[in-house]
Parts: sequence; C-alpha cells; structure tokens
Amino acid sequence: MITLQTFFQEARAGRLTGIRCRQCSELAIPPKEFCPSCHQRAWEAVPLAGHGTIASFTVIRVAPRGRTAEAPYAVAVVKLAEGVSLLGRVIDIPFDSLRIGLPVRFRPLLTADRTVVGFGPA
Ligand SMILES: [Zn+2]
Repeated sequence: MITLQTFFQEARAGRLTGIRCRQCSELAIPPKEFCPSCHQRAWEAVPLAGHGTIASFTVIRVAPRGRTAEAPYAVAVVKLAEGVSLLGRVIDIPFDSLRIGLPVRFRPLLTADRTVVGFGPA
C-alpha cells in the first residue's frame, strides 16, 4: 500500500508513483485514502512514466510564509501520459516559455527538509 510518505520517498528517488483502484480502475495521484469514484479502498501502486504536458500554470510572485526566498516560481498542473493530472513546481523552464501543451518531465525538487513534485523540460 502506498501512502503519501512512501509517495514522497519514491519521488525523492526520481520515481513517480500513482495508485489504481482494483475495484473500478480509477487512477489517482497523489495517494488518497478512498477512491473518489467508487469510495472503496483497494489501491495498488502503479509506476508512472513521468511524461506529460502542461494543462495550466501560474507564476507565484508572492510565496507563502516560509517560502519567500523561493519566489518567483511557477507551478503547473501537468496532465500525465497515463491521463491523471498532478500539480508541481516548474523547474528550469523560463516563465515566458511556459504554455499550455508544453511537454514536461517529472523531476523531484529536493530541499533540505522536503521533497517537492517538480516538472522540468521534457
Ligand atoms: Zn474505485
């Protein structure tokens, strides 16, 4: 069973993992407790390729408390090849190059105290 903790451990190692419902085949990421589709808890871990395209994005110029040194940065909702969408930090892509449909690839952003889901150039 994959939890948020193991999800981030895997992400830190560069592996993106989704979960698939054994009951109804719904794919979800990041891990959640119950299937949003059939309300069962019958997940199995599914390795994801990490390829996707930007579905939407926002440039964060005023960061939340404690992250002010990191701003400005962009976050994007990425539609993965497997069909699920995931929010992540944009890494190494200039803001003016960002556009809907831009191919990106999963890349973990590692800081001293945490792992952030990130997406860099494909
Ligand atoms: Zn389900």
